[in-house]
Amino acid sequence: MKLTTFLTRLSLKHRIIVISVFSSAMALFLSATLIIAGDYMQARERLVQSASVLANIVSYNAGTALAFRDRTAANDSLSMIGNYPHIIEATILSNEGVVFGVFKSPHLRHQKLQSAYSETDTTLAQSSSKKRVSFTGVSQFTDDFLEYATPIIFDEKQQGIFSLRIDLAGLQSRSLSLLGAVFISFILSIFLVYGMSRKLQKAVTKPIDKLANAFNDVSINKNYSLRLKNQTADELGKLADGFNSMLEVIEKRDRESENLVHDLKAATAAKSAFLANMSHEIRTPLNGIIGITSLLDQTTDDKKRRAYYTTIENSANALLLIINDILDLSRIEAGRFEPDESNFKLDEVANHVRRVFEPSAKEKGIAFEAVLAPRTPLDLTGDSRRLTQVIINLVGNGLKFTEEGAVSVAISAEDVSLDSATLHFQVFDSGIGITAEAQKNIFDDFSQVDGSITRRFGGTGLGLSVSKKLVELLGGEIGVQSRSGEGSRFWLKVPFLLQQNSRLSAADSKLQRLNEPSSEAQETSERTQYSGRVLIADDCDVNQFIMVETLKTYGLDSFSVDSGHAAIEAVMNNAFDLIFMDIQMPDIGGVEAASKIRSWEKAHAKAGSLPIVAFSASAMSGDRERFLLAGMDDYLSKPMQVEDLELLLETWLGRTGREEHSKKTEA
Ligand code: ADP
Repeated sequence: MKLTTFLTRLSLKHRIIVISVFSSAMALFLSATLIIAGDYMQARERLVQSASVLANIVSYNAGTALAFRDRTAANDSLSMIGNYPHIIEATILSNEGVVFGVFKSPHLRHQKLQSAYSETDTTLAQSSSKKRVSFTGVSQFTDDFLEYATPIIFDEKQQGIFSLRIDLAGLQSRSLSLLGAVFISFILSIFLVYGMSRKLQKAVTKPIDKLANAFNDVSINKNYSLRLKNQTADELGKLADGFNSMLEVIEKRDRESENLVHDLKAATAAKSAFLANMSHEIRTPLNGIIGITSLLDQTTDDKKRRAYYTTIENSANALLLIINDILDLSRIEAGRFEPDESNFKLDEVANHVRRVFEPSAKEKGIAFEAVLAPRTPLDLTGDSRRLTQVIINLVGNGLKFTEEGAVSVAISAEDVSLDSATLHFQVFDSGIGITAEAQKNIFDDFSQVDGSITRRFGGTGLGLSVSKKLVELLGGEIGVQSRSGEGSRFWLKVPFLLQQNSRLSAADSKLQRLNEPSSEAQETSERTQYSGRVLIADDCDVNQFIMVETLKTYGLDSFSVDSGHAAIEAVMNNAFDLIFMDIQMPDIGGVEAASKIRSWEKAHAKAGSLPIVAFSASAMSGDRERFLLAGMDDYLSKPMQVEDLELLLETWLGRTGREEHSKKTEA
């Protein structure tokens, strides 16, 4: 195993100890080796020096003996060697290689060495004597001894060789004891280093331990408010700072997600309440429609019947309002909202609102009026359907939250120029009012002031939020002024384009007197009569029936089919003046059928002669354009409103409408 891998398996504490001990051991080992080796080398040098001193003395004395071939004198000169206990043997050789004198140590070890080396004992001396040129000594180390040889000079001539053998045991034992001492100090130092590093590692591991404990605390107890006290400016201090700022970030994010969860829970609760309300809101008018319908055939009294019809109409309108709100909300949320740009008459919008609410106001015993300020422009261009929807929402609320008194609508214009004006609508009521607190989020999705009020008055909590979004998308603004128990004033300001030569409202007047006959008169009024044959293509029997019966009241003959193919066939074989074409049918849809009819007409030189009206419950934005692109001429949405149908019949079957249409076709 590699040292680094081994280290990573240890705890930080042990890692620090191992690293300190290991590196000090290495350093100690290296220096001890150097010291011991150096000392040994020095000792050897000293030995050679002392050998040379001794050899010089002996060879000086032996010179004369050798010159005069005096063996006794030669051996005498060797006698001093006995004083040196390390010397194994000493020899005097003549130039011819004859041993002239010899000393052999009687020491037991030396005797062994003498016999072990007898073969080679004069090697150095002999090889040196052959050279005969060396006037200085030579030395040579073997494992066990130092051999030293020096020439014996007399009368400036070499007479022979003196050689010495010195035992190295002393040198070696000295080095050994040095090694022992070094080893002991090595061991002691290692212990010292171990003890020190055990103590000092705490300076590193303690702050890390603290950090690790803090991490643990955070991960187990999710205690993100914890902060480390940082006392150092080193890397560990930086780590602690980093840890603290990380906790800060987490804590902040935690708080944010807590808020988010809280908001989400509130939104989910609001949506659930909304669904419950919605179900209630849809069931209530449906109940009205179903109940009244079953009553209808129980009575023959015309007056009662008319009252029933009104109830059915009101219920259906309430349903329509809810569905329009939901539809608009989903369109707005999907970013698919597009305002309509069509011409409309402001007095008609006001009359429509009045017609919708007059019966229920009357029933509740509340005064209701709509007032147009003098000289308000009446012929405008813009999204009148959405404008009407918002006003109906506001007036509907006014009536809903008012038990007695009055509800009124005031319409005026601001910033009127040649081609534009900002309309200002105000809806006043004398109802329960709204507290300042509740006004703050009254325009939020699904918000209702309080549950008990809702239970008393019904509602989805959607109307105002959709109204605000619609008004803002139309470039306007909406607001409220109210006090609890003192009624409310909802207002909105929306900019519109003016049509050329727009009419202006008369001097101050209430709307019902300004315009058409009263509602009662209208109920019995005759409908405009047209002549012509109408084809209705719709796969729903009920829709076919309603359309056929309705068209009869306008004096029109109609013929109905229940599929796209049947519609095409009917056009090929009969003459019609107008077609109402459902969009979703089982075989081929209205769009395809219309374009097939157009191709057939082209082939038979009848291009564009037959007006086709898309009749659809699909009310997504862009639908109208799609239908017109497919060759259709107009669009009527389901459920159909009588005013829309009348406008359409006037356009396509009325005298002026027909003339315009045939002019266009000819062109
Ligand atoms: P809802 O379908 O509940 O009427 P809205 O969005 O139209 O939904 O209104 C939201 C809430 O605002 C209502 O539930 C009611 O508490 C309060 N509110 C709206 N209009 C009025 C008003 N004219 N008088 C008193 N309270 C009102």
